[in-house]
Amino acid sequence: MSTLPPHRLDLAGHRRRNGVVPWVAYHGDGGRDRLIEAVEAAGLRGRGGGGFPTAVKLRAARARRSIVVANGCEGDPLSQKDAVLLALSPHLVLDGLQLAAHAIGATEAVLCVHAGSPVLPSVAAALAERDDRVPVRVAEVPQRYVASEETALVHYLTAGDARPLGKWPRPAERGVRGRPTLVDNVDTLAQLALVVLLGPQHYRAARTDLVTVTGAVRRPGVVEVAPGASIAATLAAAGGEAEPVQAVLVGGYGGTWTSDLRGGLSGIAAVYVLPARACGPAYTAGVLAFLAAESARQCGPCMFGLPAIAADFAELVRGGPSATRLAHRIPLLTGRGACAHPDGAARLAASALRTFDADVAAHLAGGRCRVLEGVA
Ligand code: SF4
Repeated sequence: MSTLPPHRLDLAGHRRRNGVVPWVAYHGDGGRDRLIEAVEAAGLRGRGGGGFPTAVKLRAARARRSIVVANGCEGDPLSQKDAVLLALSPHLVLDGLQLAAHAIGATEAVLCVHAGSPVLPSVAAALAERDDRVPVRVAEVPQRYVASEETALVHYLTAGDARPLGKWPRPAERGVRGRPTLVDNVDTLAQLALVVLLGPQHYRAARTDLVTVTGAVRRPGVVEVAPGASIAATLAAAGGEAEPVQAVLVGGYGGTWTSDLRGGLSGIAAVYVLPARACGPAYTAGVLAFLAAESARQCGPCMFGLPAIAADFAELVRGGPSATRLAHRIPLLTGRGACAHPDGAARLAASALRTFDADVAAHLAGGRCRVLEGVA
């Protein structure tokens, strides 16, 4: 089973390829329960990074006059899977959105994408072909990294401010305009549609994960791999290594560096392949500077900790004595923000120090690692 078609599907093409949602099976007494039980039997988990069981989220958001939000914002610059999905198979996402709306009793549905996103024409054309029970509104969200966080979307749709709200209350309790809200990634919703279209058993046996692979591979882009596929198998799906590889960043900008390609991937949206000729600490310093600039600057770890760590990493690359400060500061970021943004930056920084330990030592010894020496 492949989620992505080779070219964009209009409604007729989508129905020929994927089938028609058997609504009759999920209406009437117990229909909503049957739908959520099917999602549970399929073992579907969120594809937006959290990996939370989708059936649990659906049950939590069940309420009268609830709202369902499809998150297609994809804030991480290394991930393109949601955009490719919306460009090629928008009706699969919209079927999933309608099914999620039915499961929780939603009377309103919103599809969020970044302002000016290239997928807007594909989404608009798909919506024009449909006559859905729950009307779908498209919201264009500011292009910021943290704007795609689920409470940031709730905040934006309620008050026009795309900054995260914090861990409590959860959107299922008090979401958009105070109403119970389900926020699901567009990939999760497409998978929900496939659960219904294929049946949970068939889906479970045939499902694939969408992963964006960029960097030193022959065919960068979005690939489909079996759940739990190794990093090496995922790179092979993208044409294999284009040149000698030094390390891989697993999970996007808030992810983890590793040089062990045997590890398995599950629920990972993006993989970046760093060539051997590149400097891992220098690349990491650039990503940390981006993450520091993209924070919403409303919590201590983001206002002070993230810029400090980004500056420490830049200093380390220049050969400055910041390694001791970094070892002290990185753990202070974790679990202290209202959202997980600083946790991701801490994970990235700590894994860079481990994975590139030889280059870090070289920078500290002389200000230049073997890579920078090589290009001098
Ligand atoms: S942790 Fe950072 S990004 Fe998250 S809400 Fe606080 S300031 Fe904003």
